[in-house]
Amino acid sequence: MIQTDIIIIGAGPVGLFTVFEAGLLKLRCHLIDSLPQPGGQCSEIYPKKPIYDIPGFPSVLAGDLIDNLMEQAAPFKPGFTLGEAAMTIDKTDDYKFIVTTVKGTKHEAPIVMIAGGLGVFEPRKPPIDTIDNYEDKGVEYIIKDPEFYRGKRVVIAGGGDSALDWSIFLAEKNIAKEVVLVHRSSSFRGHLDSVQKVIDMAGDGRISLVTEAEVTGITGDGKVEGVVITHQKDGEILRETDHFIPLFGLKPSLGPIADWGLEIDKNAIKVDTLDYSTNIPGIYAIGDVNTYENKLKLILCGFHEGTLAVQSAFARIYPDKKNILKYTTVNGVNGF
Ligand SMILES: Cc1cc2nc3c(=O)[nH]c(=O)nc-3n(C[C@H](O)[C@H](O)[C@H](O)COP(=O)(O)OP(=O)(O)OC[C@H]3O[C@@H](n4cnc5c(N)ncnc54)[C@H](O)[C@@H]3O)c2cc1C
Repeated sequence: MIQTDIIIIGAGPVGLFTVFEAGLLKLRCHLIDSLPQPGGQCSEIYPKKPIYDIPGFPSVLAGDLIDNLMEQAAPFKPGFTLGEAAMTIDKTDDYKFIVTTVKGTKHEAPIVMIAGGLGVFEPRKPPIDTIDNYEDKGVEYIIKDPEFYRGKRVVIAGGGDSALDWSIFLAEKNIAKEVVLVHRSSSFRGHLDSVQKVIDMAGDGRISLVTEAEVTGITGDGKVEGVVITHQKDGEILRETDHFIPLFGLKPSLGPIADWGLEIDKNAIKVDTLDYSTNIPGIYAIGDVNTYENKLKLILCGFHEGTLAVQSAFARIYPDKKNILKYTTVNGVNGF
């Protein structure tokens, strides 16, 4: 049994910064994440993209932000259970919680902070029977590192910002040898600027744009060697490629947390904005996973929520102790 003061479910940016804020109050944290690495969406979806709205950082790569948050949390020696989804929660007789993962690892603490973001990541997949056989063998649903595609032929499918932005990026920076963008409609859902840029780049021959068409099949022996593109008017063509990247977004799914008796509204956990507590005393929800009036799913808002939630957690754990706010400039960072 892993014992700690706060179990944090989700090691995204919000969970990681909460470790720091809890540490300032001398509260220890243990993080659980279903992904094998910390960082949540920043590491899993867009590690190489610059973020421009983190206070004090005019621009920071999402992956670098996570490295910095890990460094900032390090003095407080957080524990990690990675690659294991939190499945169940039970209450003990002495008002603690036991969170058990899919692999049976048990964690006990008086406080649980759910920082589960979008929940368990589930990419939307195109309806191609054999697609599972090619996953990580040329089929990827997320571009983590564009360098992986250097000198390669790629077919991207989708009509939103991800599909447009990555097609532009891989072609404009001369990373991929060939970029084909396939979209089932002739109009796109992405930003108008990006749509125009794709059309211009298609005109210059830097992107091959195939609209009113869908990828309906994959060919290759053990890895992707080509895709079947079915055009609404012209029928099927076989296009040779090294990678097929359907960018249809992620299905938000709270996963097992949805069955924990928490008040849920549209796939997010309802909280009291006084301290981001849920309807179950001792359980808080912070970051993208929660909902309240005027909620903004932004990293900086999650940082604020985690900061207030640990103050409330401190008062729950130590009802007789008075916590006086101390500036880090005055007190420094005294780790464990
Ligand atoms: C392409 C893109 C660009 C973005 N750009 C910006 C930007 O410029 N500025 C900005 O502020 N925000 C941006 N965002 C949004 C930002 O990434 C999110 O607001 C932020 O990641 C939320 O952090 P979080 O820690 O709450 O959740 P997440 O980052 O989603 O992390 C949640 C973690 O919880 C884990 N988890 C969920 N359920 C379980 C479970 N049952 N058991 C174990 N682990 C679980 C998940 O695996 C995940 O790792 C962007 C998002 C995307 C997709």
